[in-house]
Amino acid sequence: MNPTISLFTPTPQFANDLADVVRIFWGGAQFRVNEPGGEITVAHTETEENGVRRCRIAMTGACSGCAEKTRGISSDPLLEKRYHKRLIKQALYDVMKQVTGRTPPWGSLTGIRPTRLLYEGMSRGLTLAEAETETRDIFDLKPEKAALLREIIEVQQTLPAPRDDEADLYVGIPFCVSRCAYCSFLSGEVGKGKQLPPYVDALEKEIAGTLALMDRQGLKPRAFYMGGGTPTSLSAAQLDRVLSAAQPFIDRALEVTVEAGRPDTIDAEKLAVIRSRGATRISINPQTMHDETLQRIGRRHTTAQTEAAYALARKTGFSHINMDLIAGLPGENLGMFLETLRWSRSLAPESLTVHTLSIKRSSLLHLWEAQLPDGEMVARMVDAGREEAAGRGMQPYYLYRQKHMAGNLENVGYALPGHACVYNVDMMEETGHVLACGAGAISKRVDPAIGRIERAPNVSEIKNYLERTDEMLSRKQLLWQSDWKRSAPSR
Ligand code: SF4
Repeated sequence: MNPTISLFTPTPQFANDLADVVRIFWGGAQFRVNEPGGEITVAHTETEENGVRRCRIAMTGACSGCAEKTRGISSDPLLEKRYHKRLIKQALYDVMKQVTGRTPPWGSLTGIRPTRLLYEGMSRGLTLAEAETETRDIFDLKPEKAALLREIIEVQQTLPAPRDDEADLYVGIPFCVSRCAYCSFLSGEVGKGKQLPPYVDALEKEIAGTLALMDRQGLKPRAFYMGGGTPTSLSAAQLDRVLSAAQPFIDRALEVTVEAGRPDTIDAEKLAVIRSRGATRISINPQTMHDETLQRIGRRHTTAQTEAAYALARKTGFSHINMDLIAGLPGENLGMFLETLRWSRSLAPESLTVHTLSIKRSSLLHLWEAQLPDGEMVARMVDAGREEAAGRGMQPYYLYRQKHMAGNLENVGYALPGHACVYNVDMMEETGHVLACGAGAISKRVDPAIGRIERAPNVSEIKNYLERTDEMLSRKQLLWQSDWKRSAPSR
């Protein structure tokens, strides 16, 4: 059901958050805020009395239901804003449960980093188990989802906590050999490769300037990550130049990841360069073992190429390969996903990321509508991914959610003990500084103790990036020059 909804609310600043709650249940719902004419009307009213806020949601029209929630008003304006929004969302969520008869796996939780809620509870003095229970009860999470969050945090707590005097280095290669239909990354096709040489020149310059900034600021290397796009869209010589520019960082980093992504971009020469420059982890991502699906989604490679790429990577000496799979691809059913999981066992990756398909372009939704597995089937795929990972001795170590995900589910990274990727955790939890180079890359300075995060984004257009590389460096410089009281970070 994808109705048009007239939403009447005295707090239009929360209208998008309320729409997100409805879309947990009705993914394509459209909204008119404080305007009549929808097939369904949602009326939000509220009162404040004796320090208590009472919020009521009434739905009328094609569906009907109502719910009321109350909560004491906090004297802290920032906290109060958060609690106020949560109260309205929960009342609306209760109405949606009534009218649909469904309880979604992640309850009323929207937003991408659910582990944050547990960390926030722990920062208030709760134990991890208490924070799990609190989050489960407030947001109506299925117990297995709440338990997943706890397991993830247990693994994260075994990793070296980020320190204020260190930073990750991210290098972005926003190119791919062709464009997958569902791709939401910033990536241009390599085409004849004309943009690559000037891009590598600019990147060398930006990396050198960034390392100099680190030296001036007394920042030590933590994790290195080269992502994209697909970094192996570059030639072996270009990869060598970029990695050698980052060599002083790589030599002292905790871990070094290079995404090799598309199996059809990998050859022995590139792998040898990546290995000799010190990469400890690469990613080779089949997404599915079914060639007909790969064709359908525009990934121009085959399962045979993936197998060859894994064999080559092992021969080159890589002892940590990550594999990405996608649950919910068009034309696939549970049996096909189980086949992919069984097949992936034969390649024995040390870490496995199970994504749920997220489609942001409505044109694709339209094209694939009849072929997309329903939310319940995708949920079974995701569960199967979890069982498969557990069966191989892997532990979940990071999780994020996106909008427009099939079944409103999650993406989870699993790894064998000792193989969790520190950079992935830093990104998800936003507890460590990141210096980022390349078009569209975003540098971050964080103070987790007070929840402060400041960002310096690079321009995303490649042409602009080439023309304004010096300015990208200045943006990072400014980020670290700003008056910022440093305090002991905690994960
Ligand atoms: S390989 Fe990845 S980055 Fe490249 S087009 Fe496909 S989804 Fe996008």
